[in-house]
Amino acid sequence: MTDAAYQKCINPSCGEEFDCGQSLFKCPKCGELLDVRYNWDKIEVPNKLSEFAKRWANRGNALDFSGVWRFRELLDFCEDKYKVTIGEGQTILQQNDAIAGYVDMNAGHLYLQYEGLNPSGSFKDNGMAAAFSHAKLVGATASACASTGNTSASVALYAHHCNLKCTVFIGSGRIAFGKLSQGIDYGAQTIQVQGDFDDCMRQVQDVCTKLGLYLLNSLNPFRLEGQKTIMYRIIEALGWDVPDWIIVPGGNLGNSSAFGKAFAELKQLGLIERIPRMAIINATGADTLTELVNNRKLIWNNGNVNQAIIDNFYADLTARHFSPHTCASAIEISRPVNLKKCLRAIDICNGVVRAVTDEEICDAKAVIGRFGLGCEPASAATIAGLKHLVAEGIVQKDQKVACVLTGHPLKDPNLTINYHKDKKGKFSNPPIEAPNDLDEIIKLIK
Ligand SMILES: *Cc1c(COP(=O)(O)O)cnc(C)c1O
Ligand SMILES: [Zn+2]
Repeated sequence: MTDAAYQKCINPSCGEEFDCGQSLFKCPKCGELLDVRYNWDKIEVPNKLSEFAKRWANRGNALDFSGVWRFRELLDFCEDKYKVTIGEGQTILQQNDAIAGYVDMNAGHLYLQYEGLNPSGSFKDNGMAAAFSHAKLVGATASACASTGNTSASVALYAHHCNLKCTVFIGSGRIAFGKLSQGIDYGAQTIQVQGDFDDCMRQVQDVCTKLGLYLLNSLNPFRLEGQKTIMYRIIEALGWDVPDWIIVPGGNLGNSSAFGKAFAELKQLGLIERIPRMAIINATGADTLTELVNNRKLIWNNGNVNQAIIDNFYADLTARHFSPHTCASAIEISRPVNLKKCLRAIDICNGVVRAVTDEEICDAKAVIGRFGLGCEPASAATIAGLKHLVAEGIVQKDQKVACVLTGHPLKDPNLTINYHKDKKGKFSNPPIEAPNDLDEIIKLIK
């Protein structure tokens, strides 16, 4: 623990503070989310972001190699001896003109931040590097999470790397095969609850409290500290310049919350001059944020969020026995735990929220596969959402836009095969059957 960091309740009428030596995950006084906060005057933060580039020369040092820890002054909550890394954050920002064309933007302006290159194949590893460091700081011996898939894969990988026991809770039948296979292979005890992700999320919180397990869902504020670095790396890849827009899929809303916090801090520190706008994209079958923000006008309001709007909507979901449904399983969530922090991020980044259909997601995914580095369905919601925003004139064709591609294409091979076989989608590329005959085969080659 460093004396530069502490935890603070985000509820302005509570505002309780706790040191970083505790693992709490919710304010014990009022039940709200906690933030990690810093006494910046006690930290030697470089006075220019480009100073971080010096670490590139030092890549034999695991902490300098890590795409999370090379920015360590910006998440300075623990001493180096606790820091965990398995080489996360070696990601690519790819400029892509073919996909710019698909969303009707001008060439040279669209960038894809490909987080599929992380050790477990999704952006979650950025958060786990930070959260498992905190777990070591507090002396945890066993970890747990609820997961739509990628969290369990990432937790299982980091847990065995740090010698922590690991239990993951997944909903019945909804998890993509690539992700399930990882968790099992990495040695997690996997408990399949008869219910959806939101049910698992409720259960895991009670299990963690009762058994003293260390919780790794994005309720954990230390995870979000690690995820801030995705924004630092986008800025880094743009020559230490900020884009005009960040586009991110919205599930439990940890990423969007972390990104907003990252920009607010960089601005406060004088390390950036302006804050980019952010668009958060839901799937229409799991569009709680879109409904609450766009239709029910829920806002951050300096932390005084109108809880009645949320409670009424959730009561309505319960009354309808609503369970979210989308092919983008990573964002199939109807009670996002970071909702309030996300509202704050929307406030910080002058954000917008949109929902896109599964068909739009699948087409966008195929386009990203064909012309980009590929991604899993939830990640493709960004491009589908951007297409809407350009058509609406909210994103200008010549603005600089960075979409966060959150997960690797091999996470969900079933969806990819289903899309391509039998020419089901606009961009289907089905395999062609051929007789075992040279002339016939040659006739088929185009
Ligand atoms: C977890 C996940 C998301 C959702 O991110 P949140 O931070 O929960 O909003 C989106 N895409 C992928 C691939 C994920 O694994
Ligand atoms: Zn509180």
